[in-house]
Amino acid sequence: MRIIIFGAPGVGKGTQAKMIALELDIAHISTGDILRAAIKNETELGLKAKSIVESGGLVPDDIVAGMLKDALKEDRCKNGYILDGYPRTLAQAEILSKIFEELGPETIHLIKLEAKDEVMVQRISNRLVCNTCGNILTKDVVTDNFTCPKCQSQNSYYKRKDDDEEVIKNRLKLYHEQTAPVFDFYKNKSHVIEIDGTGTIEEIKIAILSALKN
Ligand code: AMP
Repeated sequence: MRIIIFGAPGVGKGTQAKMIALELDIAHISTGDILRAAIKNETELGLKAKSIVESGGLVPDDIVAGMLKDALKEDRCKNGYILDGYPRTLAQAEILSKIFEELGPETIHLIKLEAKDEVMVQRISNRLVCNTCGNILTKDVVTDNFTCPKCQSQNSYYKRKDDDEEVIKNRLKLYHEQTAPVFDFYKNKSHVIEIDGTGTIEEIKIAILSALKN
Protein backbone atom coordinates (compact mmCIF):
# COMPACT_ATOMS: atom_id res chain seq x y z
CA MET A 1 0.00 0.00 0.00
CA ARG A 2 1.30 3.43 -0.98
CA ILE A 3 0.10 6.28 1.24
CA ILE A 4 1.16 9.91 1.54
CA ILE A 5 -0.03 11.87 4.58
CA PHE A 6 -0.15 15.55 3.78
CA GLY A 7 -0.80 18.73 5.73
CA ALA A 8 0.78 21.63 7.58
CA PRO A 9 3.26 21.22 10.46
CA GLY A 10 1.39 20.43 13.65
CA VAL A 11 -1.79 19.19 11.98
CA GLY A 12 -1.20 15.68 13.36
CA LYS A 13 0.49 13.85 10.47
CA GLY A 14 3.07 12.11 12.66
CA THR A 15 0.56 10.95 15.27
CA GLN A 16 -1.83 9.57 12.65
CA ALA A 17 0.87 8.09 10.43
CA LYS A 18 2.28 6.05 13.33
CA MET A 19 -1.17 4.63 14.17
CA ILE A 20 -2.16 3.92 10.56
CA ALA A 21 1.17 2.17 9.93
CA LEU A 22 0.64 -0.03 12.97
CA GLU A 23 -2.96 -0.81 12.03
CA LEU A 24 -2.14 -1.71 8.40
CA ASP A 25 1.22 -3.33 9.15
CA ILE A 26 3.10 -1.01 6.83
CA ALA A 27 6.16 1.17 7.39
CA HIS A 28 5.99 4.74 8.68
CA ILE A 29 8.58 6.79 6.84
CA SER A 30 8.99 10.24 8.33
CA THR A 31 11.70 12.33 6.69
CA GLY A 32 11.63 14.61 9.76
CA ASP A 33 12.30 11.62 12.07
CA ILE A 34 15.15 10.42 9.84
CA LEU A 35 16.70 13.90 9.91
CA ARG A 36 16.28 14.27 13.68
CA ALA A 37 17.94 10.87 14.26
CA ALA A 38 20.83 11.89 11.98
CA ILE A 39 21.23 15.17 13.89
CA LYS A 40 21.14 13.36 17.24
CA ASN A 41 23.77 10.85 16.06
CA GLU A 42 25.89 13.61 14.49
CA THR A 43 26.20 11.75 11.19
CA GLU A 44 27.44 13.54 8.08
CA LEU A 45 23.83 14.04 6.99
CA GLY A 46 22.90 15.31 10.46
CA LEU A 47 25.71 17.86 10.52
CA LYS A 48 24.62 19.18 7.10
CA ALA A 49 20.94 19.35 8.05
CA LYS A 50 21.13 20.59 11.68
CA SER A 51 20.97 24.36 11.21
CA ILE A 52 18.37 24.09 8.43
CA VAL A 53 16.02 21.87 10.44
CA GLU A 54 16.41 23.90 13.63
CA SER A 55 15.57 27.13 11.83
CA GLY A 56 12.51 25.59 10.16
CA GLY A 57 13.97 25.67 6.64
CA LEU A 58 13.78 22.94 4.01
CA VAL A 59 16.67 20.53 3.55
CA PRO A 60 17.80 20.45 -0.13
CA ASP A 61 15.74 18.16 -2.36
CA ASP A 62 18.67 15.95 -3.43
CA ILE A 63 19.61 15.16 0.18
CA VAL A 64 16.05 14.26 1.19
CA ALA A 65 15.54 12.22 -2.00
CA GLY A 66 18.62 10.13 -1.17
CA MET A 67 17.29 9.50 2.35
CA LEU A 68 13.91 8.48 1.01
CA LYS A 69 15.31 6.09 -1.59
CA ASP A 70 17.39 4.37 1.10
CA ALA A 71 14.37 4.10 3.42
CA LEU A 72 12.18 2.58 0.69
CA LYS A 73 14.73 -0.18 0.16
CA GLU A 74 14.37 -1.34 3.77
CA ASP A 75 12.69 -4.67 4.41
CA ARG A 76 10.02 -3.04 6.59
CA CYS A 77 8.59 -1.42 3.42
CA LYS A 78 7.71 -4.72 1.76
CA ASN A 79 3.98 -4.50 2.68
CA GLY A 80 3.76 -0.81 1.84
CA TYR A 81 4.44 2.49 3.54
CA ILE A 82 3.01 5.78 4.67
CA LEU A 83 5.15 8.80 3.78
CA ASP A 84 5.03 11.57 6.36
CA GLY A 85 6.73 14.88 5.52
CA TYR A 86 7.49 13.95 1.91
CA PRO A 87 7.02 15.38 -0.69
CA ARG A 88 7.26 18.97 0.55
CA THR A 89 7.99 20.75 -2.75
CA LEU A 90 6.88 20.29 -6.35
CA ALA A 91 10.42 19.19 -7.22
CA GLN A 92 10.15 16.45 -4.57
CA ALA A 93 6.77 15.37 -5.98
CA GLU A 94 8.40 14.98 -9.41
CA ILE A 95 11.25 12.94 -7.87
CA LEU A 96 8.74 10.74 -6.06
CA SER A 97 6.80 10.11 -9.29
CA LYS A 98 10.01 8.77 -10.87
CA ILE A 99 10.69 6.55 -7.84
CA PHE A 100 7.12 5.19 -7.98
CA GLU A 101 7.40 4.64 -11.75
CA GLU A 102 10.48 2.48 -11.18
CA LEU A 103 8.72 0.53 -8.42
CA GLY A 104 5.74 -0.18 -10.69
CA PRO A 105 2.16 1.13 -10.89
CA GLU A 106 0.05 1.19 -7.74
CA THR A 107 -2.67 3.49 -6.39
CA ILE A 108 -1.42 6.41 -4.31
CA HIS A 109 -3.68 7.24 -1.38
CA LEU A 110 -3.20 10.87 -0.38
CA ILE A 111 -4.55 11.75 3.05
CA LYS A 112 -4.86 15.49 3.51
CA LEU A 113 -5.34 16.70 7.09
CA GLU A 114 -6.74 20.19 7.37
CA ALA A 115 -6.89 22.78 10.14
CA LYS A 116 -6.50 26.53 10.52
CA ASP A 117 -3.03 27.97 11.19
CA GLU A 118 -4.07 29.08 14.72
CA VAL A 119 -4.82 25.44 15.61
CA MET A 120 -1.40 24.34 14.35
CA VAL A 121 0.46 27.09 16.23
CA GLN A 122 -1.40 26.22 19.42
CA ARG A 123 -0.70 22.49 19.05
CA ILE A 124 2.97 22.90 18.23
CA SER A 125 3.50 25.30 21.17
CA ASN A 126 2.02 22.63 23.39
CA ARG A 127 4.06 19.74 21.93
CA LEU A 128 6.80 17.74 23.66
CA VAL A 129 8.48 14.53 22.50
CA CYS A 130 9.54 11.49 24.52
CA ASN A 131 13.32 11.35 24.44
CA THR A 132 13.35 7.55 24.49
CA CYS A 133 10.67 6.45 22.02
CA GLY A 134 9.70 9.61 20.11
CA ASN A 135 6.10 9.46 21.32
CA ILE A 136 4.37 12.83 20.85
CA LEU A 137 3.24 14.33 24.17
CA THR A 138 1.47 17.49 25.25
CA LYS A 139 2.63 19.86 28.01
CA ASP A 140 -0.52 19.26 30.05
CA VAL A 141 0.16 15.51 30.47
CA VAL A 142 3.77 16.03 31.55
CA THR A 143 3.74 16.38 35.32
CA ASP A 144 6.59 16.21 37.89
CA ASN A 145 6.90 12.41 37.87
CA PHE A 146 6.07 11.81 34.27
CA THR A 147 6.01 8.30 32.78
CA CYS A 148 5.72 7.95 29.00
CA PRO A 149 2.52 5.94 28.34
CA LYS A 150 4.19 4.20 25.39
CA CYS A 151 7.67 3.19 26.60
CA GLN A 152 7.34 3.78 30.38
CA SER A 153 10.52 5.86 30.53
CA GLN A 154 10.48 8.46 33.29
CA ASN A 155 10.96 12.21 33.03
CA SER A 156 12.63 11.94 29.66
CA TYR A 157 11.19 14.36 27.14
CA TYR A 158 12.23 17.41 25.14
CA LYS A 159 10.81 20.26 23.12
CA ARG A 160 11.87 20.26 19.45
CA LYS A 161 14.05 23.28 18.64
CA ASP A 162 11.91 23.94 15.58
CA ASP A 163 8.79 24.10 17.77
CA ASP A 164 9.91 27.52 19.00
CA GLU A 165 7.24 30.17 18.25
CA GLU A 166 9.28 32.18 15.70
CA VAL A 167 10.39 29.01 13.92
CA ILE A 168 6.79 27.75 13.74
CA LYS A 169 5.85 30.91 11.81
CA ASN A 170 8.65 30.23 9.33
CA ARG A 171 7.56 26.58 8.91
CA LEU A 172 3.95 27.58 8.26
CA LYS A 173 5.03 30.23 5.75
CA LEU A 174 7.10 27.64 3.87
CA TYR A 175 4.18 25.22 3.99
CA HIS A 176 1.82 27.71 2.33
CA GLU A 177 4.38 28.82 -0.25
CA GLN A 178 6.07 25.56 -1.20
CA THR A 179 4.20 22.55 0.15
CA ALA A 180 0.51 23.43 -0.27
CA PRO A 181 0.84 23.52 -4.13
CA VAL A 182 1.94 19.86 -4.01
CA PHE A 183 -1.69 18.95 -3.30
CA ASP A 184 -2.73 20.13 -6.80
CA PHE A 185 -0.01 17.91 -8.26
CA TYR A 186 -1.70 14.84 -6.75
CA LYS A 187 -5.36 15.84 -7.15
CA ASN A 188 -5.84 13.87 -10.35
CA LYS A 189 -3.12 11.31 -9.80
CA SER A 190 -4.22 9.77 -6.54
CA HIS A 191 -7.08 8.65 -4.35
CA VAL A 192 -7.53 11.83 -2.31
CA ILE A 193 -8.90 11.59 1.23
CA GLU A 194 -9.58 14.97 2.86
CA ILE A 195 -10.03 14.87 6.63
CA ASP A 196 -10.79 17.56 9.20
CA GLY A 197 -7.72 17.60 11.43
CA THR A 198 -9.47 19.23 14.38
CA GLY A 199 -11.31 16.12 15.64
CA THR A 200 -9.93 13.85 18.35
CA ILE A 201 -6.98 11.58 17.55
CA GLU A 202 -9.29 8.55 17.59
CA GLU A 203 -11.98 10.18 15.40
CA ILE A 204 -9.40 11.14 12.80
CA LYS A 205 -7.86 7.67 12.80
CA ILE A 206 -11.27 6.03 12.27
CA ALA A 207 -12.12 8.47 9.45
CA ILE A 208 -8.82 7.73 7.70
CA LEU A 209 -9.10 3.96 8.04
CA SER A 210 -12.66 3.86 6.77
CA ALA A 211 -11.79 6.06 3.78
CA LEU A 212 -8.85 3.77 2.97
CA LYS A 213 -11.10 0.72 3.07
CA ASN A 214 -13.51 2.25 0.53
P1 AMP B 1 8.69 17.27 10.25
O1 AMP B 1 9.05 16.34 11.34
O2 AMP B 1 8.04 16.62 9.07
O3 AMP B 1 7.91 18.48 10.75
O4 AMP B 1 10.07 17.85 9.67
C1 AMP B 1 10.96 18.58 10.49
C2 AMP B 1 11.93 19.34 9.63
O5 AMP B 1 12.74 18.43 8.87
C3 AMP B 1 11.32 20.28 8.59
O6 AMP B 1 10.93 21.52 9.13
C4 AMP B 1 12.48 20.39 7.60
O7 AMP B 1 13.50 21.23 8.11
C5 AMP B 1 13.02 18.98 7.58
N1 AMP B 1 12.35 18.15 6.57
C6 AMP B 1 11.55 17.08 6.80
N2 AMP B 1 11.09 16.56 5.65
C7 AMP B 1 11.61 17.33 4.66
C8 AMP B 1 11.48 17.34 3.26
N3 AMP B 1 10.70 16.44 2.62
N4 AMP B 1 12.15 18.28 2.56
C9 AMP B 1 12.93 19.19 3.17
N5 AMP B 1 13.09 19.27 4.50
C10 AMP B 1 12.43 18.34 5.25
